[in-house]
Amino acid sequence: MGDGTRAVRAGLPEPHKYEPTLPGPVFAAHYHLPGEPTGPYTYGRDENPTWTHLERAISELEAPGEPDGVESVVFASGMAAVSAVLFSQLKAGDVVVLPSDGYQALPLVREQLEAYGIEVRTAPTGGDAQLALLDGARLLWIETPSNPGLDVCDIRRLVAAAHDRGAVVAVDNTLATPLGQRPLELGADFSVASDTKGMTGHGDVLLGHVACRDARLAASVRRWRKIVGAIPGPLEAWLAHRSLATLSLRVERQCANALVLAEALMRRDDVSGLRYPGLPGDPSHKVAAGQMWHYGSVVSFVLPDRGRAERFLEALRLVDDATSFGGVRSTAERRGRWGGDAVPEGFIRFSVGAEDAEDLVADVLRALDETAQLAA
Ligand SMILES: *Cc1c(COP(=O)(O)O)cnc(C)c1O
Repeated sequence: MGDGTRAVRAGLPEPHKYEPTLPGPVFAAHYHLPGEPTGPYTYGRDENPTWTHLERAISELEAPGEPDGVESVVFASGMAAVSAVLFSQLKAGDVVVLPSDGYQALPLVREQLEAYGIEVRTAPTGGDAQLALLDGARLLWIETPSNPGLDVCDIRRLVAAAHDRGAVVAVDNTLATPLGQRPLELGADFSVASDTKGMTGHGDVLLGHVACRDARLAASVRRWRKIVGAIPGPLEAWLAHRSLATLSLRVERQCANALVLAEALMRRDDVSGLRYPGLPGDPSHKVAAGQMWHYGSVVSFVLPDRGRAERFLEALRLVDDATSFGGVRSTAERRGRWGGDAVPEGFIRFSVGAEDAEDLVADVLRALDETAQLAA
């Protein structure tokens, strides 16, 4: 079965006469529960049928052909999912290896981990530099492609080295989505994502998930969700499930557009530091090609300075100046405005949407030309 077929059917319950194909959101703080309090549905913070359908859908995408061997747990946001893995698996005295160039909230997470007596080591994603820090580690956290630098590390290689030393491995798979890359098939213990991005793809829902094979690990993540209460609303869960039906369409279109845009930017001499793992000449391409089916919808590049970057963003008509990525409408931002990421002042993170490639490229080239004239 292909990804498109899998995506449109993922997580649908058995058909019942007069029932909808995808049942609507169930709003319930508690369920009728006479007698002994046995599951599956007792209290709304523990379980919800709308989550169950979505979790099943995500498992089918994370592990095609063997969804019964995988458990997925959905959360209120990507950070809720990230924190659930880190804080449920680590305790005082443990060592964790994080990327030094990962998602911008990781430094905050680091502070919190250290406050709990956990030793945090960091190294860049590129060149598999985290390999050198694994001795004595309990957990290795990988983000590939990294955000916003788009470096890639070799998941199989890092997993083998971590497992040799008795460490578990979590991969933040937000950028790729399970159609682009499947960490569990590459040996990782946890596949974690912010489903706020490409998974749901419309920029209207915050959500996250953790998928894992080991039932014991899954239970500890589920237990963490119950303790912390970082649960998605039923409407968000339902919207996410509805959005998954178009995941394959969106991924194919957006990744194809990203490559076309990257190729157009390659021909500009006012653009430097262009990165897209799908470009055959990109430093990430070789490793990416060994573990990814699609290279994501994010392209990054550098304009000569901050002023030029700001004027470029303002001149775009089809591209909103906004953060986040993975949505059907293209967005771009000057990443340096946040502080935090080690990027040049003119660094642009461009999230390529599902527009027609000709329109998008024309808009970008026009905005570059117009702002070049202003600068001259
Ligand atoms: C956005 C993002 C997160 C956090 O997700 P939220 O849904 O915003 O909480 C984590 N990791 C990566 C790579 C992200 O892009």
